[in-house]
Amino acid sequence: MGKAMRRKLLCVVVSLMISSFIITEYVPPVHANSTTSSAPKEAVKSREQIFAERRQLFDEISALTGIPWPYLAAIDQYERTIRIAKKRPLAKGLIDIYYSQEEWTGMLNPDREDDNPTSIAFFNGKGKDGNGDGLADRTDDLDVLFTTADYILSYGTSEQDFRIALWEYYHNNRSVERIEQFVKLYSTYDRLDLFQHVFPVPLSSSYSYRGTWGARRGWGGYRIHEGTDIFAGYGVPARSTTYGVIEVRGWNPYGGWRIGIRDLNNIYHYYAHLSGFNKKLNIGDAVAPGDVVGWVGSSGYGKPGTSGKFPPHLHYGLYRDNGLSEWSFDPYPHLRKWEKEERQRKLKKS
Ligand SMILES: [Zn+2]
Repeated sequence: MGKAMRRKLLCVVVSLMISSFIITEYVPPVHANSTTSSAPKEAVKSREQIFAERRQLFDEISALTGIPWPYLAAIDQYERTIRIAKKRPLAKGLIDIYYSQEEWTGMLNPDREDDNPTSIAFFNGKGKDGNGDGLADRTDDLDVLFTTADYILSYGTSEQDFRIALWEYYHNNRSVERIEQFVKLYSTYDRLDLFQHVFPVPLSSSYSYRGTWGARRGWGGYRIHEGTDIFAGYGVPARSTTYGVIEVRGWNPYGGWRIGIRDLNNIYHYYAHLSGFNKKLNIGDAVAPGDVVGWVGSSGYGKPGTSGKFPPHLHYGLYRDNGLSEWSFDPYPHLRKWEKEERQRKLKKS
């Protein structure tokens, strides 16, 4: 096998792994009785149950500390999106905020399993007791959440204080930006289950697309084609495929008028070559699946306003941020899936 061939094969395998990971990652299998192996039938919690119980944990700690629940939910979700890249173990409970044993018990604490709040505090460990059982248990959801809430509280309760607390915790602007975007989503829609998707153009419009990811050259000057081109007429609405926050809006020499939306899986959805934007939307605004963000066009490949150098189409790209780096992956299988799901939902309704 040639070198190029082998590389291509590796690309395919990696992107397959990534796409399967993306689809499943936000619903980790959680067992109701994972510690009691003798239980005859382990009840696997449903998606709805997981979200409901997780929300209850946020509400409980929010009531206790005064920290708005979307702050806690946003940190938890952000930590979920960086877990694999940071090589952290799968959370045993419903909360993914991670503390290492050293962080939890204190650097100089000789007892790495220490769950005594007094000795943990003595060794400057972060671990706190949130459920009132007298123990600071690193594997207990309420203890972990309370520890995080208490840390935020130590900086104050304003939005600015929250930003400073996040900066001091992550020392990374990108992390702070993501968490603030997630806060926006949770406060706008007031729920945790924000993972539904739709196809980027209305299913009733006339469009065509195929898997062109990695093609040597797509339309609009991409050296390596990082996306899927959806061919449709001028003025066909370009819709948000996801719940997300507008991260980028403006002109790019290749992409033309383009818009970028960040979702709760820390995935960036990129729409290029638009003929125009929905003027009501600004950077930082929340959008839901189906919201019109702009219209299909052929802008790009030149100075601002350049248009018509190639047939009108929507260039749709997906980029994943895992907390360490960001890379593009093939939208095609996802587009197929979302198209099918949307069609099925429509059929059910009618
Ligand atoms: Zn394209």
